[in-house]
Amino acid sequence: MRMYDIITKKKHGEELTKEEISFVVNGFTKGEIPDYQMSAFLMAVCFNQMNDREATDLTQAMIDSGDTLDLSEIKGFKADKHSTGGVGDKTSLIIGPMVASLGVPVAKMSGRGLGHTGGTIDKLESFKGFSTSLTRKQFIKQVNKIGLSIIGQTKELCPADKKMYALRDVTATVDNRALIASSIMSKKIAAGSDVIVLDVKVGSGAFMKTLDDARELAKLMVKIGNGCGRKTYAVLTDMSQPLGNYVGNALEAYEAVLALNGKGPEDLMEACYTLASYMLLGVGRANSETEALGLLKGTIEDGSALKKFAEWIAAQGGDTECIFNTDKSPKTEYSEDIIAMNDGYVSQIRTDEIGMTSLILGGGRETKDDVIDPAVGIKIRKKVGDYVSKGDPIATLYANDVDKLRQASARIHDAYIFSAKKVEAPKHVLEIIK
Ligand code: URA
Repeated sequence: MRMYDIITKKKHGEELTKEEISFVVNGFTKGEIPDYQMSAFLMAVCFNQMNDREATDLTQAMIDSGDTLDLSEIKGFKADKHSTGGVGDKTSLIIGPMVASLGVPVAKMSGRGLGHTGGTIDKLESFKGFSTSLTRKQFIKQVNKIGLSIIGQTKELCPADKKMYALRDVTATVDNRALIASSIMSKKIAAGSDVIVLDVKVGSGAFMKTLDDARELAKLMVKIGNGCGRKTYAVLTDMSQPLGNYVGNALEAYEAVLALNGKGPEDLMEACYTLASYMLLGVGRANSETEALGLLKGTIEDGSALKKFAEWIAAQGGDTECIFNTDKSPKTEYSEDIIAMNDGYVSQIRTDEIGMTSLILGGGRETKDDVIDPAVGIKIRKKVGDYVSKGDPIATLYANDVDKLRQASARIHDAYIFSAKKVEAPKHVLEIIK
């Protein structure tokens, strides 16, 4: 086989065989296929697409490029969730303890934030001392002991995806359905859980800007997951505004603690309850959505999810003081209220702009090696559908650097769009693909 011929085939919109796809992935991972040929191939995929069979073969080839995590030493069916990347998304910090406190093991790998989207690992590391680099043995031991652990992605898992994603990132080939689906699903399947619940975001802050595109991506991921023997569901959720009221690592950890105390905002709780319900249904811990919801709400009401959260943070070396006394959450040197210039209803909050504002404050990364400031971020004071009078605070910025605060303050106004006409608050959960 020759890479040149495979690129030519895809350039002409032809279907590739399993062997050809495997040749491309193996050759690229081993360094036998150079970046310039792989870039041409990826661009041909973006223009001419892959069908579902090709995407499934691509996923399997990426799984086969490295190790898979064997979770068989953990008793019971394991459930995992994954979000396609959002702003203000702290759901894993809430769902993990809720589900684990109901006896369903959660052994999860998560990522760091990059660009305008945040990452679960960064949020967890805002608890001083929290470590996400456990050995496989420590990871399994912790899940067997307390039912829950989240660690960073290991290098050995899906090395093909790591290399391909780095190239896609700089060749404008990220936003393709088959490439996104295979990238996400290869990592989730290799990470070993029996049940996978996907949170596919739709809107200005997401890869998928329309409901139709998100639905197509979700259907493909569900098909790949089920085809690989994992019970997979997808929940389509709104990302036309940030999730919850806080953006920034320690601020989001603080909001997760509020949620576990029964004080979470409606959109955040709707997301958490829906995603967690499908985890429970998938492993057979509940027989209906109503039963699952009742069980999950019970973990908040009786304090068991909060207790599990503290147990988890402590098990991975984190300081739990600010869980029980939220006044001890990290503070910034400066804060500034952002004031509405006009009266009107908030009709849109450009999520990507909010994510970029948080990044400017120091809460995110432009490149992989940037160091983040866990304390900085944004409190969203007005959400879509709220009425605002001129002079009302619409957001508060938290910063440790005056220059960054000035830049962020100039930027955040562009994120808010107002309308003179009444605007309904959007539904958060839009659709479920079973
Ligand atoms: N997240 C991933 O892991 N891969 C993609 O291609 C897009 C989002």
